[in-house]
Amino acid sequence: MQNLPLFGLDIGGTKIEGVVLESRAKPQPICRFRIPTEANLGYQHIIGQVAKMLEMLRAESGLKPQQLGIGHPGTLDPNTGVIKNANTTVLNGHPFNKDLETRLGIPVRLANDANCFAVAEALMGAVPEVMPNAEVVFGVILGTGVGGGLVVRGKVITGRQGIAGEWRHNFLDDSGGPCYCGHSGCVEKLFQGQHWSTIMQV
Ligand SMILES: [Zn+2]
Repeated sequence: MQNLPLFGLDIGGTKIEGVVLESRAKPQPICRFRIPTEANLGYQHIIGQVAKMLEMLRAESGLKPQQLGIGHPGTLDPNTGVIKNANTTVLNGHPFNKDLETRLGIPVRLANDANCFAVAEALMGAVPEVMPNAEVVFGVILGTGVGGGLVVRGKVITGRQGIAGEWRHNFLDDSGGPCYCGHSGCVEKLFQGQHWSTIMQV
């Protein structure tokens, strides 16, 4: 496993980024691409865009993917097996991993994008450099939506509902005003559109 090439995708509302890394032991990028998600064209179109990206990576690297890892908005609900809470709403309600495995013919592992960001920073990014002894790391994404990922001793905490670390609808300040979730002053309303991310030790 340590020496296999790693194929990974980041699926967002506007673009899909793909990369091939040399191996887990040597995580240098061999090639990377970016294509539009075109989520407005529907769920099956996104499946097609993922297949197209995988083919681009395979052709450019000359390597055969054994499996595919994907960071995506929302969560694969551990109880129902379908995506929920994705702001790319066409993904919601679908067994995205199963549909991709049928199309691609290889195992597909999904993870929430904020969790991917948090664990990457915790293990290979800012944390080892700045706070090598940090045991609990909370990664924060403030973008089109607000996300968060919680990593304890190097492992992502997902929780029973798959939404641990999702702090977007926690109350922060009344100045945020009413939120689409029905509450008011949510983190999501206060930070919407700020477009930055950070890591904190908690
Ligand atoms: Zn809210």
